[in-house]
Amino acid sequence: MPFVITEPCIGVKDKSCIEVCPVKCIASDDEEEMYFIDPGVCINCSYCEPVCPVNAIFDEFKLPSDQRIYLRKNRQFYEK
Ligand code: SF4
Ligand code: SF4
Repeated sequence: MPFVITEPCIGVKDKSCIEVCPVKCIASDDEEEMYFIDPGVCINCSYCEPVCPVNAIFDEFKLPSDQRIYLRKNRQFYEK
């Protein structure tokens, strides 16, 4: 999985990342409190990372250890 959205997005959902993603692989729904990146579609371009106002987006390999649960959460959203 390339890029991952983590806990700081919860309750923010301002969509800045969606506007810059060239492959439209960031989504959510009314039931979710945050956005998620589709690991099967993300092309690892990193465009989304700097535009997030709360620094919620990380390269998988730079993910803080206390945010590793979000690897699974991002993937699970697209398995629904
Ligand atoms: S790294 Fe690029 S392709 Fe992946 S979610 Fe961010 S903007 Fe989209
Ligand atoms: S830019 Fe950051 S806070 Fe806004 S929707 Fe994307 S991940 Fe969430």
